[in-house]
Order: sequence, then structure tokens, then C-alpha cells
Amino acid sequence: MSTFKAPKGTYDLIPPFSAQYLAVRDAIAAPLRTSGYGYVETPGFEDVNLFARGVGESTDIVSKEMYAFETKGGDKLALRPEGTASVLRAALEASLHKQGNLPVKLWYSGSYYRYERPQKGRYRHFSQVGAEAIGAEDPALDAELIILADQAYRSLGLRNFRILLNSLGDKECRPVYREALQGFLRGLDLDDDTRRRIEINPLRVLDDKREAVQKQLVGAPLLRDYLCDACKAYHEEVRALITSAGVVFEDDAKLVRGLDYYTRTTFEFVHDGLGSQSAVGGGGRYDGLSEMIGGPALPSVGWALGVDRTVLALEAEGIELDIPAATSVFAVPLGDEARRVLFGVVTELRKAGVATDFSFGAKGLKGHMKNANRSGARYAIVAGERDLAEGVVQLKDMESGEQQAVALDGLVEAVRTRLA
Ligand code: AMP
Repeated sequence: MSTFKAPKGTYDLIPPFSAQYLAVRDAIAAPLRTSGYGYVETPGFEDVNLFARGVGESTDIVSKEMYAFETKGGDKLALRPEGTASVLRAALEASLHKQGNLPVKLWYSGSYYRYERPQKGRYRHFSQVGAEAIGAEDPALDAELIILADQAYRSLGLRNFRILLNSLGDKECRPVYREALQGFLRGLDLDDDTRRRIEINPLRVLDDKREAVQKQLVGAPLLRDYLCDACKAYHEEVRALITSAGVVFEDDAKLVRGLDYYTRTTFEFVHDGLGSQSAVGGGGRYDGLSEMIGGPALPSVGWALGVDRTVLALEAEGIELDIPAATSVFAVPLGDEARRVLFGVVTELRKAGVATDFSFGAKGLKGHMKNANRSGARYAIVAGERDLAEGVVQLKDMESGEQQAVALDGLVEAVRTRLA
């Protein structure tokens, strides 16, 4: 072991587990890639003010959890705690919204950083796959994203997850609700921190997980009862579209999320096998964010699904993804001459698109065959001096154990035919 360990709240992805992780990431991205979303990648850090303004200074993510630092050159930066603000910043910077029809649909995948109190499912470094549809106010987009996330989870075999849906209203109706809620909250018995929150961001108080707080919140005014006609109609349309796609959801009038930029549609995917860190993904509409970071009005909607928690959800449901072995063919040379020849064969097979590996290091037949077994390869190519003198190699089927001499000059084709 080295003197160093992975930093607190982080963990390494190591084979074979890492293959599950990659497969989850791919499965989440797959429905996006075939639904018109283009890939976007942004830096791991940004101007700290992008998040302060975009995500909101009063949020935990910005006020407590951000890895903010000053560079030697005096730039104030932060490791990205979430993806939406960066993606919108990138889209605006590249003027994507001026280059054709809106919405601009983008997907991304990467690492995010929050200085949180680590526990199972809550890390300081985690991975998300996200999607954003920028520049259109269309309930079908909100519905599309929810349906695609549902499809992604289902394609992995997950079943014990629920979709919670709410509307947070817009700049017309939310202020009226905000005031009503503040009036209610000011009358409760709350600590100083929470009292301050009432004045800055009262909706977040609804999200307080403490039982003593939740008890007092019974009877709090609900946004649902304050939505303006436009928001109500919009929300009904989103609900109808999701329903007609056969996707089941639950209305959750108390659902607010930890980021300030959400308007209208908000949703969360929760998994019932994960204990307290049950949110596997979430998102919503953020019609005001572009203007908050200095852009034009660009109503948008998006989500981010957590890869780490999705992997935990699979474990909770006892689902093991069927991941094909990375290697199809494993080459075992017996002797120096065979090493040279088979090393060339390996390169030829790889060029022909066959996933091939080579037994490195001198280990004798037993050691080599152990390597071959461990690789999970379907076929082993074994060759010694006598085989080479005859211009053949032994092609061994690792499942049946059958072995057959195959001419060296027809080997690539013979392997390809068998694997097909
Ligand atoms: P949020 O941006 O907070 O809505 O997060 C979206 C998703 O990212 C969540 O539903 C989680 O699956 C995942 N996530 C957020 N924070 C963490 C964390 N600290 N550790 C692991 N996953 C996280």
C-alpha cells in the first residue's frame, strides 16, 4: 500500500466493479444520444460567481459545499458542484442559441464536487450524466426528459424507483406564494438559521429533513394552490404527456430542490432501497437562469442523474449487469519464437476489430492458461515451436475446452467467423 489514500469522501473505481459503473453511465446516456441531444463537455472548474449567481448564494451547495479557491493569478474559481450553470454558460458563449432552431439539446457526463459530510451515497466527488434542453418553453420537452430518464433506469432493470413531480410556479405566482409561506413560517418555533432561511429562501424550509421541523410544516400553504393559470395549464400538459407515455409519477406538492434556479416543472427520481440518500436524479425547468448569468431570456429544462447512486440502486435491487468480457481472444505463446509470432497476430486481430489480449511475462503453460482464464476470453490461441513449424496455432474454445489447429495465415478470418 502507498502512504497515500483516496481523499475523504471519495473512492476509486477499480475493475471489475468499474465496468458496472461505465455501463451505468452509458445506459443513462443512451436514450439521450438517440433523441437529438448533442454531447457537451465543459471544464471541471468555472468562475466562482457563475455558481454563486446561477445556483444561488443562499443554497447549501454554494454557501457550504463549494470547493472555491483563488489561483496564483488571482482568479476566483470553483470546482463545479453541478452541471447546468456550466452547460448554459458554454451554450451562451458559443452562441448555440443563435445558430438554428431552438431548443438546443445537450447532454454531458462528468465529475462534480461538493464538500459534503460523506456517507453512503453522498460523496465529495461524484459523477452525473445530465441533459439540458435550452431555449424553448414547451411542456413536451419537460415530458421528454422525464420519459428519457425513466427509460434509462428501466433499461438497467431498475424497478423500485419513483418519480416525484411538482410545479414551482413562475415569476408571477411564486412571489405571492412566497409571501404567504413566509407569513406561515414566521409563526413557527424554529432555530436562528432556519429563521434566516425564511427571509432568504423560504421554499427551502419545506425541504428541511428534521422531524421537528416537518411536524410544524403540516398545514403550510402549498404552491399548488397558488399557481397562476398559465403555470397550471403548463403543468397539466406535462402531466398528461407523461401519463400518455405510460410513465407513472406521483404528485408531490412539497417537492422543492436545493438549487435556486428552478421554475415551474421540478421532479426528482427517488429509489426506495437507498435509505436517506434516496434521490438518484432530479431536475426541472429553469426559465430565469440564462438572465441570471447575463444571457438573454432562454427558458430551459434539464436533469442530472447520479451515476454513483444509480449503481447503489442496482445493488439494492440485486441487479448485476450482464457485461460481456472485455477480451474475446487471449494469446498464449510457448517459447520465444512463438512470442514474436503471436505478438504480431495479436496486433493483426486488434486491427481487425477483435478484442484481444496477450499473455505477458514468462510463466510457463500453467501460468499462461491462468491468465487466459482470468481474462474471460472466449478463445485462446496457443502456439509452440512445433505448431509454428507446421504453420498453425491451436485455437482453444475456452467454454467447451475443444482445441483445433488453425492455419496461421487464415487465423484472423477463422477467429472472426467463430466470434460472429
Ligand atoms: P442535484 O444536483 O443535487 O439535484 O443532484 C442530482 C443527482 O446527483 C442526485 O440525485 C444524486 O444522484 C447525485 N448527487 C448529488 N450530490 C451527490 C453526492 N454528494 N454524492 C453522490 N451523488 C450525488
